[in-house]
Amino acid sequence: MKRFITLIIALMLISSVSVTAFAAGVPSPDIKRMIDYLVLVNKENQLPENWEEILILVTVPDFEGGHDHRVEYEAYDMFVLLREDLLSEGIQIELDSCYRSVAEQQDIWDRFTEEYGIDYVRQYVAVTGFSEHQTGLAIDICIVKDGVTIDDNDLMIAEAEIFARIHAKIADYGFILRYPQGKEDITGYSYEPWHLRYVGSPEVAHEIMDNGLTLEEYLQLGPDDEL
Ligand SMILES: [Zn+2]
Repeated sequence: MKRFITLIIALMLISSVSVTAFAAGVPSPDIKRMIDYLVLVNKENQLPENWEEILILVTVPDFEGGHDHRVEYEAYDMFVLLREDLLSEGIQIELDSCYRSVAEQQDIWDRFTEEYGIDYVRQYVAVTGFSEHQTGLAIDICIVKDGVTIDDNDLMIAEAEIFARIHAKIADYGFILRYPQGKEDITGYSYEPWHLRYVGSPEVAHEIMDNGLTLEEYLQLGPDDEL
């Protein structure tokens, strides 16, 4: 318990964000180990039932003063490092959409249906309970180019060169591109260059990214499968 409190205080000091949500019950020093960083949430696999109870989120202010973002704390720490690395190459990425509660996911479904129509929504937006954003491990980024924020889906897809440079770096920080191009049949989603998913370690992320896999394909590999 003491170690855990020290960790929390250290986190608050280091990253100027606040740890907001644990669920009921006393968090143990090993709580991080309770999170399965390879959890699979897609159109067929729902968020595990006890997920919200073991998830540790940090709350981060929006860079433009919009509403706060919440991210699983280790994923956020790694995002900060990724962002700094990219900044040193002149690329600015920011948090656009991260953790969503059940109510927020439903709200997005409703709002996007109004704005883009139901066909678009079925392709891009997850049904409540089946969104990877509810894991806290998914981060939608936006980019800031020449001082202008680019967060529109179509405009981001058009920035292929910048996103290629971003994608070349993400595995070093434990992130994968969750919905790659050409894998729509496997992931159930159209290409989303902005949607990054933290998988717990750079080693695993590299195995997935370097071999052009999806999370679904990686999880189906047997111990004897050669990559
Ligand atoms: Zn997303």
